Amino acid sequence: RVELIDISKSYDKQSNVISNINVTIEPGEFFVLVGPSGCGKSTMLRMIAGLEDITGGTLKIGDIEVNDLPPSKRDLSMVFQNYALYPHLSVEDNIQFGLHVKKVDKKERAKRTSEVAEMLGLTDYLKRKPRELSGGQRQRVALARAIVTEAPICLMDEPLSNLDAKLRAHMRSEIRQIQRRLGITMIYVTHDQIEAMTMGDRIMILHEGSIQQIGKPIDIYNNPANPFVATFIGSPP
Ligand code: ATP
Ligand code: MG
Repeated sequence: RVELIDISKSYDKQSNVISNINVTIEPGEFFVLVGPSGCGKSTMLRMIAGLEDITGGTLKIGDIEVNDLPPSKRDLSMVFQNYALYPHLSVEDNIQFGLHVKKVDKKERAKRTSEVAEMLGLTDYLKRKPRELSGGQRQRVALARAIVTEAPICLMDEPLSNLDAKLRAHMRSEIRQIQRRLGITMIYVTHDQIEAMTMGDRIMILHEGSIQQIGKPIDIYNNPANPFVATFIGSPP
């Protein structure tokens, strides 16, 4: 369970880019954070990850307040927009990178890597370098690298934005399947309403750093809380 209690963020002490965010994300939930460019999605995800200081409020993972814990102590994995693969490492070493950091032994590393590679259709590509892969394959390596850590919480920031429409649709369902299968808690950022509506158990719509609405996609579609939400989601008038 990830609990945000009155979370706010300012970069310059003048104005908040995030204001008074209150939400609890349940275990095993696929939670989507959606809103237009600049509304504060990445800032929020980075605060949850521990990559950005929290200006105000309390962040809990489980029952523990984690405001001051470094990223490595938060038991979560993250997939970034640009994948951030190591270009000089093979696919296999990219996938295992986090396991080295966590001091997982060699046998266990090999076992987990082959399982995850199998799951994501990467078995034939383990010896290649990232530049020798297609965009979709690179995306799967980034995904594999997050999953292999077996962290119970996964954060993704616009992981599909570099892919073409067809591959994006395919990867959406692939990510959902894996998330369900492993029972991971997912916090997924996108600016794409369709992605939010099709993937999320619940979605949170953010505008200028404030929550506009939280709920199931169908409920938000049928009962938008305000004109901003209605327009953003494209609800019928
Ligand atoms: P996008 O969809 O374009 O990725 P976003 O919703 O992820 O947008 P953020 O990156 O969280 O938006 O940015 C929210 C606001 O905070 C923006 O106005 C941005 O200019 C500002 N901001 C982000 N990072 C910093 C920073 N390091 N210093 C100052 N302001 C920042
Ligand atoms: Mg962003």
